[in-house]
Amino acid sequence: MIECDKKNNWHEFLEFMQKRMNATEFENWLAPIHVLQITPDEVVLEVPNIFVREYLLENYKEALLNFFPACKGEPCIDFIVKEEKKKKALQPFPKIPQKSTPLFNPSYTFENYIEGPSNQFIKSAAMGVANRPGKSFNPLFIHGGVGLGKTHLLHSIGHYVQKNHKKLKMKCITTEAFINELVDHLRNKSVDKMKRFYRTLDILLVDDIQFLQNRLNFEEEFCNTFESLIHQNHQIVITSDKPPSQLKLSERMIARMEWGLVANVVTPDLETRVAILQDKAEKKGLQLTSDIAFFIAEHIYNNVRQIEGAINRLSAYCKLMNMELTVDIVENILAHLLQKSVDKKITVDDILKCISQIFEVRVTEIRGSSRHKNIAFARQVAMYLAKELVSESLIKIASNFGGKTHSTLLHAWKKIKKELPENDVLFRKLKMAKRQLGA
Ligand code: ADP
Ligand code: MG
Repeated sequence: MIECDKKNNWHEFLEFMQKRMNATEFENWLAPIHVLQITPDEVVLEVPNIFVREYLLENYKEALLNFFPACKGEPCIDFIVKEEKKKKALQPFPKIPQKSTPLFNPSYTFENYIEGPSNQFIKSAAMGVANRPGKSFNPLFIHGGVGLGKTHLLHSIGHYVQKNHKKLKMKCITTEAFINELVDHLRNKSVDKMKRFYRTLDILLVDDIQFLQNRLNFEEEFCNTFESLIHQNHQIVITSDKPPSQLKLSERMIARMEWGLVANVVTPDLETRVAILQDKAEKKGLQLTSDIAFFIAEHIYNNVRQIEGAINRLSAYCKLMNMELTVDIVENILAHLLQKSVDKKITVDDILKCISQIFEVRVTEIRGSSRHKNIAFARQVAMYLAKELVSESLIKIASNFGGKTHSTLLHAWKKIKKELPENDVLFRKLKMAKRQLGA
């Protein structure tokens, strides 16, 4: 077990955030914070002013929850505002000189992108583009839901090109940053300079093109740059939360984006999610049993970023509490992240199979009329669960138990309901059954 190192948590949080914020934001908002105290129940942070507190809570609540103690879904953080000697006007965004080489998230590489049947195609498309920029798919348009690895693939292309095609001139930019840059150049009357720069690029990587929607003037400028690059066979890669046809952009822009390969990132299948999870856990030095890994992957299924959040939270918890993880503990720690299994209808048959396993009796025995103690008890538990979880009439449910009457079902339900608060073993078995059923 890892020794509880309190300050470590803060350092891990900083490391995590540094990868997700730009350098200016990080310097302005996070660097000035000091940790005064961290206990398993509370964190005390010293902030230079009230804005830092608001900024953190408004923008990074989820990340805070992944690293620090929480109460009722809120981070348990006490912010103490440092007395300022001289009241300086707040300068939230001082200009920091821009680096000319693109900055990529160091962990967003092809090597770190876990592959499975669901994402093999998109990974090889991205690798194809990185290998032979401008010569395979142009543009490559990657679309899909939040947290599914679009930016990861975009930066992987960036890393690869930086390493293997050193001479190529590349720019990686978010659509928001592109717009901001354009605004700055308009203000300084230097738009031509910006245009010239963009049109001489060999590779342009653009993240989150959906932010170009409803920004007509910017769209036109972007479209011109786009056409100029494509006509010179220079590579463009774009990510978006929707396919081109669903973006509220001009027909001209949409048609251009559909010229090359439009590829979709989808939710990874269960095995790939487990592999991602194990990989991220290993990198954090966290040991997960396969039971726990499957449990998390079964309950967080449509967002890889949340899987990462879960691992960070578990790792922080282990360090703070110095505790061995079990499925029950994991379920408690991650309660706010876990999704119910896809809304599938639970049937009496599902319940019979599940109870037969947990109580080690046969389904035919539960359906039959044996009064043997173990069998009768398993039957009553199955009836209790069926009444709780199956949305059909009592008569119909009862008839699925080998033709029992609805009053037998009701009797069983009442008996188990009464016994539940007094019988710990029964309580745990029922909890396990519900979990297996995804209820
Ligand atoms: P998006 O841009 O689609 O919202 P990101 O690229 O930011 O998502 O990915 C969210 C997180 O999930 C990142 O930390 C990324 O490394 C991770 N991730 C997504 N897919 C994979 C994968 N197949 N293998 C490893 N990590 C992944
Ligand atoms: Mg992204």
